[in-house]
Amino acid sequence: MSPEAPPTAPSLARVQAQARTLADRVISGDRAALSEALNQVDDSRVEHKERGLCLLDALAPHSKGLRIGVTGAPGAGKSTLLDALVSALREQDRSVGVLAVDPSSQRTGGALLGDRMRLGSSARDAGVFLRSLAARDQLGGLSAVTGPSLDVLSSAVDCVFVETVGVGQSESQVIDLVDTLVFVAQPAAGDLLQFMKAGILEWPDIFFVNKADLGDIATRSAAELRAGLDLSQQRDPDHLPPVLCGSARDGLGLEALIEAIDQHARHLSHTNLGETRRRVGRLARVQRALTARYGAYGLDRLARSHALEERVVKRASVSVDRVIDELSRVIEKDLRSGDGS
Ligand code: GDP
Repeated sequence: MSPEAPPTAPSLARVQAQARTLADRVISGDRAALSEALNQVDDSRVEHKERGLCLLDALAPHSKGLRIGVTGAPGAGKSTLLDALVSALREQDRSVGVLAVDPSSQRTGGALLGDRMRLGSSARDAGVFLRSLAARDQLGGLSAVTGPSLDVLSSAVDCVFVETVGVGQSESQVIDLVDTLVFVAQPAAGDLLQFMKAGILEWPDIFFVNKADLGDIATRSAAELRAGLDLSQQRDPDHLPPVLCGSARDGLGLEALIEAIDQHARHLSHTNLGETRRRVGRLARVQRALTARYGAYGLDRLARSHALEERVVKRASVSVDRVIDELSRVIEKDLRSGDGS
């Protein structure tokens, strides 16, 4: 069998059965199964691709966890905040997963997330699951495995955080993966212009100005941010995101932040915005993956014969990565047929 060929029927059935068994263990919160599942979806070897896809398909209907993106410039206090949020959520008896994507890896030098998070007893807590991802393949953006890793984690825990170092570019990608995006701002005078230039005001659902213990400078930054949002053309003036102030170090403002996250989740489910957002996010993930593989040309060829959105919506019951795989085959077949038109 050539490595490119799909598995034959009996072996496919076996792969599916194994995927369902592993998925059941993941859903029940089995930590070893969760590690194994994350390894499987990160396995890019052709002969193991179907295994990862079957697993994601088996998990797709069980995605229950709230997906929260935490972004902000290096040094803003994201890790400290996550650390504090994890403890606060554990006190509420909610299970938590944390996925850290660090495109620069400057601070960590590739070290594991656990090394730089001061999770203390949480690190040994069965209700907390940490995973760090090196952003290997996409400069300044998110690694392709971020989406599937979140898909796995959100079927196992109540809240999944994905931490990205963001200075404007990655927000537009992470927004497709999460229900709620929190921007952690470093208090500094005159930041507003920088925020506006970088397009940061456009995406986040919640702003958290950290280091409120520094005093006035944090309060002024929060006021600047609010003013910027008021002026922003890209935001609905009736639904401006909250701008909170707090201190991750001293544990100030955490309850308000968790309440804002929960309130946003309620808003999404009450208004069906959540469903719309997940649909738009799925489509964006498919488009991005296909464009990365085949360029705009490949995507154009696909759009000729199959309306992309229709196709993605129709396959809502399977994993995003399955849809990407199916559409890749369509494009490849079309390219092979080589009519060149
Ligand atoms: P990240 O790069 O965004 O993950 O930021 P870190 O969490 O690593 O924090 C960067 C620095 O800011 C560290 O020295 C933290 O101790 C400090 N820091 C984080 N949160 C606070 C805070 O609320 N107040 C103060 N004063 N310092 C903080």
